[in-house]
Amino acid sequence: MNSFKNQKCYARSLKNCSPTISREHYISQGILERISDGNIIGVSGIPGIPAGQMKQIGVESLAAKVLCEKHNSELSSLDNTGIKFFDTLDEINREISDLGQSGVGCDKTICGLDMERWMLKVTLGSVAARIAHRGELTGTMLTMDYWVSVLFGLESMPQGCGLYLVRDPKILIKIEQSIEFAARVNDGKTTTGPIGEVFGLNIAVNGLPFFCNLADPDGNQSQLTFPNLVYRPAGIAFDNGRVPRTMQFNWNDDQPHEQLTLKYLSSNTDQVI
Ligand SMILES: [Zn+2]
Repeated sequence: MNSFKNQKCYARSLKNCSPTISREHYISQGILERISDGNIIGVSGIPGIPAGQMKQIGVESLAAKVLCEKHNSELSSLDNTGIKFFDTLDEINREISDLGQSGVGCDKTICGLDMERWMLKVTLGSVAARIAHRGELTGTMLTMDYWVSVLFGLESMPQGCGLYLVRDPKILIKIEQSIEFAARVNDGKTTTGPIGEVFGLNIAVNGLPFFCNLADPDGNQSQLTFPNLVYRPAGIAFDNGRVPRTMQFNWNDDQPHEQLTLKYLSSNTDQVI
């Protein structure tokens, strides 16, 4: 263990940095390779792009020098969780789209805590790279150094922070592989923190909308409410009117977790089931 802090590494508070900065993809390279068609990916939330619009950019432009090689390599298992999540969604998508299948239900389990930390990695990476946001993580709620400790498993995720899934019965998974992300920045109405502070990241994978929350919903951010969000869902059932395909999240705790059912519509039909 050395005390070296690489000033370009956002995890430098942990010390033990390597002198070389990695050119990492804070959205895991393996996912970008799966999504990209000719190394092009659609993203939203980039400065200069109007809200709600997607821009096609090359995979390489999502690389950012924000972690040293040592700390980047220590997070590779989280990238594997993100990739497993993406592959599981893709597998469900293929199974449920195959009208000729017999309809045997299929359960697939993802470690929820690792999935949540993968989303935190994407969130902190985009904040550090100053790409998917126009605001700052000022640390009035919890500091960047604290979130780094959570990311590396030295602290647990505060209750109420972390992974949410948007509850919307109209939400449909898309056939097309896609990823969109956009920072949530305090506009002065959402939380009581300073205007311009980043308090989370919206991440939609294949149209499935998640939110990674960094603000404390039980603290002094009393105006922050999540009426349409489900915290740490037990799983997602994709219902196409026949046998639902289910993805489970394992949270390793005694807390109740809600199972969400989403209507599924393949993109090559116009009829809502
Ligand atoms: Zn480092």
